[in-house]
Amino acid sequence: MPYQVKKSKWIEELKNLDVIDSLDEYKHYRLCFNACAVLDVVFKKLEIEPYQKLTADRLRRRLKLALYVLRVSMSTPYDMAFACLECQRSFKRQFDLLEACPESLKCPRCGGEALNFGRHFKAPRKTAKRQWDKIRFLVKHGFRFQKIRLASGRQDSVAYPETLEEAREFIVKFKDYAIKSK
Ligand SMILES: [Zn+2]
Repeated sequence: MPYQVKKSKWIEELKNLDVIDSLDEYKHYRLCFNACAVLDVVFKKLEIEPYQKLTADRLRRRLKLALYVLRVSMSTPYDMAFACLECQRSFKRQFDLLEACPESLKCPRCGGEALNFGRHFKAPRKTAKRQWDKIRFLVKHGFRFQKIRLASGRQDSVAYPETLEEAREFIVKFKDYAIKSK
């Protein structure tokens, strides 16, 4: 599904490079058309008056402008899982390396905060209350499914607890890895 990239870093970059003249007129859309690529498009509405007679030359000049503005980039996206602890639901959004990934997004259901749980989060069923209790407990103690690696350079990371009971031990054992709340 295509969506508009708000506060686009790419538009800012194009402005800085003087490729485009203003930030407001341009829109950045992302089209995720399959699992392995996204199409990024930056464009602005071209104003060509329908009754104006355009000579071939003028038309060419305008088309040139359009092509200059429309740039397409392909990059490999990755899915980030966001979860709303109120709705007990998660959803995925695609990001790529050019784009800063937010810590939270607005929940599409309740409008509240949906937290970024990273790439590997598997959401429990909405009705699995104990599982969601465990997640709320972990978040409260600074664990948002960030990777916990016991030694730098090690590829394997610590597995997150399966149950609320295990989570109580987990937050003590790995307290040094907790995200400090601001
Ligand atoms: Zn929600």
